[in-house]
Amino acid sequence: MKALVLEADWDPRHPYRPTAAELASQKATIASEVWRHPRLRMATLPDPEVGPHDVLIRVRAVGVCGSDTHCLETDPEGYILFSGPTRLPVVLGHEYSGEVVAVGSAVRDIAPGQLVACEGMLYCGVCEACRRGQPNQCPRLEMVGFSAPGAYAELITAHERHCFRVDGIADRYGDVQLGLDIAALIEPIACPFNGMFVAAGGMLPGSHVAVYGCGPIGLGAVLLARAAGAATVVAFDISNERCELATAMGADTAYNPIELAEAGSSPAEVVRELTGGWGADMQIEAAGAAHATMPEIEKSFAPAGKMVYLGRTGMKPPVMLDVLMSSSGSITGARGHAGGGCFPAIIRMIERGIIDPAPMITSRFPFDGVIQAIERSCLRVDGKIMVQV
Ligand SMILES: [Zn+2]
Ligand SMILES: [Zn+2]
Repeated sequence: MKALVLEADWDPRHPYRPTAAELASQKATIASEVWRHPRLRMATLPDPEVGPHDVLIRVRAVGVCGSDTHCLETDPEGYILFSGPTRLPVVLGHEYSGEVVAVGSAVRDIAPGQLVACEGMLYCGVCEACRRGQPNQCPRLEMVGFSAPGAYAELITAHERHCFRVDGIADRYGDVQLGLDIAALIEPIACPFNGMFVAAGGMLPGSHVAVYGCGPIGLGAVLLARAAGAATVVAFDISNERCELATAMGADTAYNPIELAEAGSSPAEVVRELTGGWGADMQIEAAGAAHATMPEIEKSFAPAGKMVYLGRTGMKPPVMLDVLMSSSGSITGARGHAGGGCFPAIIRMIERGIIDPAPMITSRFPFDGVIQAIERSCLRVDGKIMVQV
């Protein structure tokens, strides 16, 4: 099968010392401290083997994730920006959907011909974190497209426990390829769903919500806040294209913080104004720029307000923690999209038209153009770039 492979040099950055486990497995816990000089190439690889619990999927759609972008982009010393666990070389890509072509002998609920989307956080299911219902915090976690074979490939296998049927989405949109493009968005919408509703415990209808960063994760947060009955959804992004997307997807208003600063205002002032001084009941950091967003977020906590931290950054943000005391506020971090009922809830909402993520897709590339697709993502003007395999 044809597949897109990411390679880089194992060259730990001084003074980072890989642990014995990292050396033995060649799996870097913090990729950005180890992997240098990344390269992408199309390769011909053997078709994956199908174990008894595996589902063999012909991949039809894969979304380009910011993490894919961060695997190609480097810092001044040539190290990749992605900071999650990574074992290279690897087939990249983790936001995918496709058609089932075969199933292992023990698979019970999935059959050839069905359409599926799959979780990419491969939790072990037996450790204490998994058994407490925290699969995204599994210490043995493998990640599709980073430490396990990914989906920029003609074929992929997934354990049946990670597969969810999406035939209903294709029915809703009346077209299999369009339905599978939409189904490949479940994963990036499931990340804010997990953060807002599973990890942070949700919000009341009538809440004021502020979303920082209008890439796919932030746009997913906008969709979900609206669907959950938010009174106000205000979004911020330094790209005007992405601000427009946020309003197209349900935000009341979206502002460019740079333009606000030029006009002598700030996101925190806007939030105060829009909420009559109350503040935001829920704030989502999906910008990956906490050093710039936290000073705004800390000024906008409503009483008992929640902040959900989803955007990765290597920088330490300045935070005035006393605001959490006076507002009885909370900051919840969340990673991933597995478990918690995330995939089934989002599939139902799309099937029934409660959310329509279609406007999020702003570019499409054929599989032969996958490298150009990832290069385009470095411009950060798109919602989601979709690769059709
Ligand atoms: Zn992703
Ligand atoms: Zn586990």
